[in-house]
Amino acid sequence: MSVLVVGSTALDSIKTPRAEAPRLLGGSASHAALAASFFAPTRLVGVVGRDFPRRYLALYRRHGIDLEGLQIAEGATFHWAGEYEVNMNHRRTLRTELGVFEQFRPDLPPRYRDTPYVLLANIAPALQHHVLDQMRRPRFVVADTMDLWLNTALPELLRLLRRVDALVLNDGEARQLSGEDNLLRAARRIHRLGPPVVIIKKGEHGSLLSGPDGLFLCPAYPLARVVDPTGAGDSFAGGLVGYLARAGGRVRDHLRAAMLHGSVVASFCCEGFGVRATVRVTPAEITRRVAELRRLTDAA
Ligand code: AMP
Repeated sequence: MSVLVVGSTALDSIKTPRAEAPRLLGGSASHAALAASFFAPTRLVGVVGRDFPRRYLALYRRHGIDLEGLQIAEGATFHWAGEYEVNMNHRRTLRTELGVFEQFRPDLPPRYRDTPYVLLANIAPALQHHVLDQMRRPRFVVADTMDLWLNTALPELLRLLRRVDALVLNDGEARQLSGEDNLLRAARRIHRLGPPVVIIKKGEHGSLLSGPDGLFLCPAYPLARVVDPTGAGDSFAGGLVGYLARAGGRVRDHLRAAMLHGSVVASFCCEGFGVRATVRVTPAEITRRVAELRRLTDAA
């Protein structure tokens, strides 16, 4: 079954303590759609400007990503610039140039409206609503967000939480949204805001699922060298939803395995700038890392 991903489609300029790279393919939807495409047919909804390199369109296509929902508008592609500290958990946004995102309305091609699995990747909550307004009874809707929207669009975000099946967010955002320092209490509070499934990401320390079958702790795949963690969260969410779409059946039966697969795709993402490492991965390598992750946490 297929996946619809809506989010930002960007050019990212990234600086780490070791290197820097300008105008890479980035954006929450790019990372998420590439990750989902390993598992299921994926449809992308976003907007780019006329300056968007053709080779990036070719790259989406090579991954079989359906681009009918990708608008090409007059103006500049969304550009984001960020810089990491030596401790790569700390990142500073240097620039956010919205460009064509300023006028973006994610109107869906009619055939997208019946897509069963939906990932509302990080983008303004009003746009996430607009996509949901056009969907016909999706089976499972996952939303991602960021601190910016907690600070600037909280009422729309709270309204969105009542419309989604799952929320994926990082630990800092979970604390801010819930007003709870303890993550278990934070998850409980977020459930009360709407989503029956809450997934809290803790970077290199893995992630926590709170859902209808209780808790699940998902490890991060251990990496000796992180090149660029940009998009790891989006890759995690994309891999998770893609896996659920491939599995079909009852979502709750596959959530744990979906987390492991998301976690592994995110690990590949961290091994190169932008999407460079992700696009080189093979399905066999994903399967191998998932098996290794299972072994690494099996105490029996
Ligand atoms: P992550 O590392 O998971 O936080 O995601 C990084 C991606 O988010 C980058 O590729 C950026 O292009 C994208 N991004 C940064 N700021 C925003 C924003 N305000 N809205 C949507 N996407 C953004």
